[in-house]
Amino acid sequence: MAATDEHRRNLRDVVLTHAHLDHIAGLPLFVDDLFATLDQPVRIHALPEVIDVLERDVFNWSVFPRFSELSIGSAKAIEYCPISFNEPFTIHGSEFRLFPTFHKVPSCGVMVKDGDSCVVISGDTASLSGFIEDGSPLSAAVVECAFPDELSEIAESSHHMTPATLRSELEKLQLDCPIFVFNIKANYRDVVVKQIRDLGISDLEVLEIGKAYFW
Ligand SMILES: [Zn+2]
Repeated sequence: MAATDEHRRNLRDVVLTHAHLDHIAGLPLFVDDLFATLDQPVRIHALPEVIDVLERDVFNWSVFPRFSELSIGSAKAIEYCPISFNEPFTIHGSEFRLFPTFHKVPSCGVMVKDGDSCVVISGDTASLSGFIEDGSPLSAAVVECAFPDELSEIAESSHHMTPATLRSELEKLQLDCPIFVFNIKANYRDVVVKQIRDLGISDLEVLEIGKAYFW
């Protein structure tokens, strides 16, 4: 939903961690905006279960057009690329790998390698136990922390983390890289940011919205 004109011109590969609305909300409108001008498909890389949900519940003609059946020249507007856990795939020279997470629905985190850089992104999860550790030194880890500690019951039942669970998960993992927090629920952003700072963990900071990071 925050796509810029440059994104609209250049972005044709989308990697999804899961099909929850706050993670796919911009996708139908992104494809729809581009449809008349596309000269290649928008490729959606995701777990097969996530693709099934998109086709059944979103791009189903009732909620939105089934773009996987609509042609632009000789190609379809959407091309699905089903990916299994730990199966490496490449987008524009960068290697991607999906790993299991602990959420309410089929979901994954994403590891991206490009040259000497290796970044791991948690997706939505209540645990970092599935974090890929293939021996590559990590350049950065991007981890979720949706709710403040006061809402630990909601976090637990919706399979998200709070600053307290984040600290406990990070103690288990002992990551040797900068760690950035994302996916904070907007209503609770200020209090979650304060609780994360109060953890006093070095190399742990909140990912800034709108800022580009290079690792
Ligand atoms: Zn989710």
